[in-house]
Amino acid sequence: MPPRGMMLEMDDVDSDNSVSMTWEIDPASGTMRHKKTGTKVSTDSGITYEGQEYRLSPEDIDLDFDSHLGAGACGVVMKGVIKHSGIPVAVKTVKVDDKAKREQLLNEIRGLIAADGCINLVHWYAGFMSKSTSVVHVALEFMDLGSLADLKKRLGGSGVPPFYLSNITYQIMNGLDYLHKKKMLHRDIKPENILHNRSGFVKLTDFGIAKDLDKTLAMAGTFVGTVTYMSPERCLGQDYSFASDIWSVGMVIYELSTGRYPFADIGSFPVLFDHLCEKPEPRLTPDFPPELVEFDALCLTRDVARRADTEYLLAHPFVTQNVPDVDQLAAWLATFC
Ligand code: ATP
Ligand code: MG
Repeated sequence: MPPRGMMLEMDDVDSDNSVSMTWEIDPASGTMRHKKTGTKVSTDSGITYEGQEYRLSPEDIDLDFDSHLGAGACGVVMKGVIKHSGIPVAVKTVKVDDKAKREQLLNEIRGLIAADGCINLVHWYAGFMSKSTSVVHVALEFMDLGSLADLKKRLGGSGVPPFYLSNITYQIMNGLDYLHKKKMLHRDIKPENILHNRSGFVKLTDFGIAKDLDKTLAMAGTFVGTVTYMSPERCLGQDYSFASDIWSVGMVIYELSTGRYPFADIGSFPVLFDHLCEKPEPRLTPDFPPELVEFDALCLTRDVARRADTEYLLAHPFVTQNVPDVDQLAAWLATFC
């Protein structure tokens, strides 16, 4: 096992194939400012590059190999820290075997960094590609409470109270609205890809990363009953659209409200197909507040033409009336985190 706090081991990093935000450092206050978006990050410790433009490189990140924030299909997520500023980051290692796909991923990261600037999207600090191995490292804003799947686990089967859910939903929708306005699709909205922190902020992550678009069709043959947030039209093999992201948000809201995934018995692709394409759409029962029930039904509408969009949903009473602020949400989270 490598020593704790070791550097990101990227001596073979391809310098043409790394991207990062350009930061400006104010020597007087010790604050890092992202030039393009104006994002400021205050720091306590040693910034040495006074007044100079500063781009992240792999040597700038100390990795904590003992930390294991999570693991997904493509790799692991570890905690790290930007040395000069003390800013914590989550370093995600994405395994991409094919060189062309790795380059495509880096290009997408370039686009994502350019699109940065919404409080409800996880910030990307940098991406590094190794010349020799099949991995790309991505340095992301660290979210100290993990994902909404972790929140669900912490609640141990009970749902998120609708009062707090209204704020969480607003933040999810606001992040998605930002992407959609930039003509970007998320493509993989699920509780694991929505992160939250102790300050009460909720942020989407893993947007725009190259997704295997043949996955849906391939699934028909290899289905193992995995929980899925895919929309009916995707299940039918149609193209992914902005509306498909909205369906997935509806599924997540249903799950957070009730504490359980909407379809209890999916064990095979035909059963999932039946739920998504034949049976009535999932609906919250009337013991939930009517604004929440309606909001979720607007997302979980099978007919794509009638499904609401982000703009409409951001003006809905569920997320505009009697909504707590982030500090209230943070105070509630602190009661059990
Ligand atoms: P998939 O392979 O489909 O992406 P996944 O979303 O569960 O599945 P990852 O994206 O690798 O897999 O993330 C795994 C877990 O790591 C997340 O569920 C979350 O708990 C944690 N994680 C990811 N990014 C961060 C972050 N920026 N800050 C804190 N924790 C994170
Ligand atoms: Mg993920």
